[in-house]
Amino acid sequence: MEYDLDATVVKEKAKALGADLVGVVSAKTLNDFPPDPKWPQTPERISENTKSVIVIAKRIPAGAFRAKSNIPVQYIDMLVLRSMDRSAYKLTEWLENEGHPSFVTAAQETDWAYKNASYGRLSTRHLGIEAGLGTFGLEVNILTPEFGPRVYLTGVLTEATIEADQRITEQVCIGESCSRCLYSCPTDAVRHFGIDKRACATEAQEFGFTTILQFWGHFVKQPAEIQRKLLTDRELFGFWQGLLRVVGSFGDCPRCLAVCPVGNDYHAHLSDIQKVIPEKTPEKVEKAKGFKLARKNGDHIDGLTEWNERWVGPDGYQGMVARQLQAFKKEQREKEEAAANAVSEDQGTTI
Ligand code: SF4
Ligand code: SF4
Repeated sequence: MEYDLDATVVKEKAKALGADLVGVVSAKTLNDFPPDPKWPQTPERISENTKSVIVIAKRIPAGAFRAKSNIPVQYIDMLVLRSMDRSAYKLTEWLENEGHPSFVTAAQETDWAYKNASYGRLSTRHLGIEAGLGTFGLEVNILTPEFGPRVYLTGVLTEATIEADQRITEQVCIGESCSRCLYSCPTDAVRHFGIDKRACATEAQEFGFTTILQFWGHFVKQPAEIQRKLLTDRELFGFWQGLLRVVGSFGDCPRCLAVCPVGNDYHAHLSDIQKVIPEKTPEKVEKAKGFKLARKNGDHIDGLTEWNERWVGPDGYQGMVARQLQAFKKEQREKEEAAANAVSEDQGTTI
């Protein structure tokens, strides 16, 4: 098949514009496989002219996950999103200059007409998986082999035909025998390749839309004296910070991202500091054991139906993280040996 644009050229361009990972998926695939067919988050609902979606991912620097509190991650998330949007916009400009009408979607937007929760016009996690960038984790974040779940993604919709990438069919997530995301979750929101969005939102969107509604719903029913007191409430300041810097309105809880052992950024910078999970409880350990047993027994699991398995990795976990860790350690050893040799050569020259 003849394509309008060479996929290699498009990916090089996206990387030059700041993307850390890039993949391509055809609009047809996304239209044929909506995450939830009852509420299709598909390109054709946005534009029938879209032929391909270029998915770009930007990594969250690992350093913020080493801080004492969640606040540095919350701020850096916003910077990553801004930077990612800028890269996507520049790519859109380039595509149009090449003669192909294109536009970028808002990664963090919610379609009000959809389910009663935060569902965007497209699901960026599913875009990434369909474009071959990763597979679902137990907590249904996308896990990329390079950076685990510590990424943000967006999609550029274009009328150009571009060769699509293959999906990763091997499960990137270690699965039930790991369950570190489940152990770390402060609201116990992690399901079996699923998530309790409402429970997650109480931590991840501390000053999000629901909290704002609750606050003002309560406020309007109070007598004037209580209302005056409520105006000095910490929550109001949280809403202000959310408007100002997005902090608090989403992505507030980074725990399941911080502890996931997938990705060389984890091996290099997080394995020491995140090894022990203080939130782990005997109840959560039992829950993980139940998940393991259910999978072994072939029980019905909502997150692993024939439809959903596509995004989890139909071939199951085959040791990707162990292989990655071995390769990472080998590379580290080689670097150390090369550095030691350079020092001894240098000393030999000096002598
Ligand atoms: S973001 Fe926080 S609350 Fe939500 S699933 Fe992850 S660890 Fe749990
Ligand atoms: S922490 Fe473990 S179980 Fe959870 S998503 Fe990462 S690899 Fe999968």
